[in-house]
Amino acid sequence: MPTPSLRLYNTLTRTKEDFVPIDAANVRMYVCGPTVYDYAHIGNARPVIVFDVLYRLLRHLYGESHVKYVRNITDVDDKINARAAERGISIRELTEQTNEIFQADVKALGCLEPDVQPRATEHIAEMIAIIERLIAGGHAYAADGHVLFSVPSMPEYGRLSRRPLDEMIAGARVDVAPYKKGDMDFVLWKPSSASEPGWDSPWGRGRPGWHIECSAMSWKHLGEVFDIHGGGIDLVFPHHENEIAQSRCCFDTQVMANVWMHNGFLQVEGEKMSKSAGNFVTINELLHTERFGGHVWSGPVLRLAMLRTHYRQPIDFTAKALEEARRKLDTWMRAARLALDGEAASQAPSDDVVAALSDDLNTHAALTSLDRLFNTAGEGQDDAHRQLAANLVFLGLASRSELKKPHVEFVSVDADKVETLIAARLAARAAKNWPESDRLRDEIVAMGVTIKDNKDGTTTWEVKR
Ligand SMILES: [Zn+2]
Repeated sequence: MPTPSLRLYNTLTRTKEDFVPIDAANVRMYVCGPTVYDYAHIGNARPVIVFDVLYRLLRHLYGESHVKYVRNITDVDDKINARAAERGISIRELTEQTNEIFQADVKALGCLEPDVQPRATEHIAEMIAIIERLIAGGHAYAADGHVLFSVPSMPEYGRLSRRPLDEMIAGARVDVAPYKKGDMDFVLWKPSSASEPGWDSPWGRGRPGWHIECSAMSWKHLGEVFDIHGGGIDLVFPHHENEIAQSRCCFDTQVMANVWMHNGFLQVEGEKMSKSAGNFVTINELLHTERFGGHVWSGPVLRLAMLRTHYRQPIDFTAKALEEARRKLDTWMRAARLALDGEAASQAPSDDVVAALSDDLNTHAALTSLDRLFNTAGEGQDDAHRQLAANLVFLGLASRSELKKPHVEFVSVDADKVETLIAARLAARAAKNWPESDRLRDEIVAMGVTIKDNKDGTTTWEVKR
């Protein structure tokens, strides 16, 4: 088998590199998963979708049984304790409920299940083993029921984030504690009160810090050094820097993972998402309510909207972008279903789609290839549209069973004309010219379009099925 030419941007080196797996028969990837205390927001969906695309690509390039993808579930965390107490339910109940919702959300987004989804609470023994080795090696110390990692014991600390020392100290949100020897030393283990979850350890009953969880779970399932470690850009410091410090110092290795990949930030309608700004939007709301943009959005539409921007770029998540994605996916699906005519889509994606993704996951170029197939006219059209179907499956934008469903009646709509008529109707309504407004509405409906007037004064539309 020829070596597939995959190039990935590595945060560790700040360059795009040829990807060379440690063992092509066992390509290993770890991605930081959710802390299960609340609904996942749309920003959480980005790494899940991005690394699902990479997982699919790796399986295509190296073979399905030669890739191991691990995404953890953080089910011990102080945010979990606080939320469970607030809701008056047990920690177990809260983490189980939240994880169930998360799994359903990401399935709807077209994501394959990772090979392993380890839970932090099931890897306490591995965490204790790592901490003991770090203490023995002079990289950690126990004090006052706590165990802390000694940052000065690792000269290469900061290599991933490349931050100046003073900035890292500020970023570490230093809490002044008498048991701390160095400003940047971070917690590996901390004592638990009787009401907090805790496990027996050589340092008394306690619980792990967040960073040690990922070092333990990646070690258990992928080994001391593995190929790819992924997550959102916000995790570079301190989380990933600390994971690296723990794993490298414990196992005495040059790297923890060879390639570190990070997806860019996500904002909503041009603003940073936050509960206080009122623009906090969960995957679950998007899928099941009309809260965002006045529509219930399907998982594939959310996925397509996400993939139209390169994963390293910041993304602005807007209702307008979702509407565009919805229309695009709708036309692709109709064409693909017509061409398949009830048959199953083939297995193989187009070479140019694979080539685009192999260039550091250039999803934008891959989607352009889908457009090109869609726009093929004349004799080769059916073949092109069947190929379009195969690519939709490969990219996780459609399931084989969805594509086998008969197509709904194809309604060709001039979107620009609809927008113009809607604008004219809004103007008529503003002028309280009701006969004109009604006339325009009838004209729009006659085009096979349904419209909906929203509370905020806007009008949204869709092609009637
Ligand atoms: Zn992690």
